[in-house]
Amino acid sequence: MEHIVIIGNGIAGITCARHIRKNSDAKITVISAESDYFFSRTALMYVYMGHMKWNHLKPYEDWFWEKNRIELKKAWVETIYFEEKTLHFSSDETMKYDKLVLATGSVYNKFGWEGQDLEGVQGLVSKQDLELLEKNTKNCKKAVIIGGGLIGVELAEMLKTRNIEVTFLIREEAFWHNVLPIQDAKMISEHIKSHGVDLREKTELDKIVANENGRVKSIITNSGEEIECQLVGLCTGVKPNIDFLKHSALETDKGILVDEFLQTNIKDVYAIGDCSQLKQPLSHRKPIEAVWYAGRMMGETLAQTLTLTGNEIPYKPGNWFNSAKFFDIEYQTYGNVSAKPGDNEMHFHWQHKDNTKAITIAFDANSNKFLGINTFGIRMRHSVFDQWLSENRKIDHVLANLKQANFDPEFYTHYEKDIFKSFKENLQKA
Ligand SMILES: Cc1cc2nc3c(=O)[nH]c(=O)nc-3n(C[C@H](O)[C@H](O)[C@H](O)COP(=O)(O)OP(=O)(O)OC[C@H]3O[C@@H](n4cnc5c(N)ncnc54)[C@H](O)[C@@H]3O)c2cc1C
Repeated sequence: MEHIVIIGNGIAGITCARHIRKNSDAKITVISAESDYFFSRTALMYVYMGHMKWNHLKPYEDWFWEKNRIELKKAWVETIYFEEKTLHFSSDETMKYDKLVLATGSVYNKFGWEGQDLEGVQGLVSKQDLELLEKNTKNCKKAVIIGGGLIGVELAEMLKTRNIEVTFLIREEAFWHNVLPIQDAKMISEHIKSHGVDLREKTELDKIVANENGRVKSIITNSGEEIECQLVGLCTGVKPNIDFLKHSALETDKGILVDEFLQTNIKDVYAIGDCSQLKQPLSHRKPIEAVWYAGRMMGETLAQTLTLTGNEIPYKPGNWFNSAKFFDIEYQTYGNVSAKPGDNEMHFHWQHKDNTKAITIAFDANSNKFLGINTFGIRMRHSVFDQWLSENRKIDHVLANLKQANFDPEFYTHYEKDIFKSFKENLQKA
């Protein structure tokens, strides 16, 4: 019987295993050093905040794996001998595979700052990071978070629920302005500040200072300011977790290089999820997309290739979408809304005066084609925008039918006039 081995029990690896089982009787083993069972990484913050227990993060009951004949192995793969199709574990055990799926996820970045390995300095990606955070915040009064991304703002919210004072350093002039257009970014910056976070724009970390016990005592910013703290959160992004695969025959760049079928340069070896890097991404898509739904789609696609003999299925992620939460504001994005639009991209922006709801719509200045939308504090229907993007709809169509895309029937009764007045003004200015 063919043995398919998957390294990584995250959304990519587990989706792949489940879909292989749907179509095949192959022996499936999923390996992870992190946890006994698959869990929802995106919900880690809720455990710390006391909204959920660790067990609530498991989407499947523990009996699910045996019933579906998916063998789970908790172990760390130290080396892969690709020529012999053999894994070597840190415990010295070995395991043979016929086909291997690498779904090893991400680790957080460290950029070589002085003091980055001190006690009390950490990122937030894994179960072990969460456990360490519990320990590190036991007697913590003041924290500094470095880096203005999605994990940074989550960490800020988490720490605030424990009454820890938070200073949040971001390099950009407003929160996540490398992704969000300036007006959206500024609104979120203000929202974060309104939650009592000391958000410092255009401020970077220079170094982290130790006390006499080798624990963090403060950080120094690039302008020379010293900020006392007992915790430093490193949230300057993640990178593929592939160090143990470097110096092997596997072709890697930032991630494990794969073709459109998610196949690496080595026969019978594939890579999916955060650790993979597409050699030729579709236009408007990035080679590495470290998000939940990309991992799920890759897992599902690869499972088909692995089980439907002679049928290689290309990875087609469709239109980009994503969602997140910035304290109380839900954010959704569909298509492409550039942070710094060029001459060909125009933006409509509407923002409610209470600064918790906003819409930014991007369209092509020449053809009027709808390019994408960001919404804040307003929940939209994925299927509607996906269809409009696929049908290459024009901006007029989107504006005329925006109501259709909204989940909340009351919303437009309240805000429609204001939104359209603002759009008209935007258009006249342009
Ligand atoms: C705090 C946080 C919040 C997030 N929020 C969102 C969100 O709101 N929306 C969104 O789209 N995405 C979010 N993400 C990103 C999303 O969680 C990831 O994109 C996704 O979980 C990656 O899944 P994966 O299957 O590729 O890898 P992972 O879930 O990282 O799984 C990889 C597994 O492989 C194991 N592994 C690696 N190497 C080895 C080895 N050598 N031996 C054994 N085991 C190994 C790892 O320990 C890990 O358990 C968030 C991430 C974090 C950390």
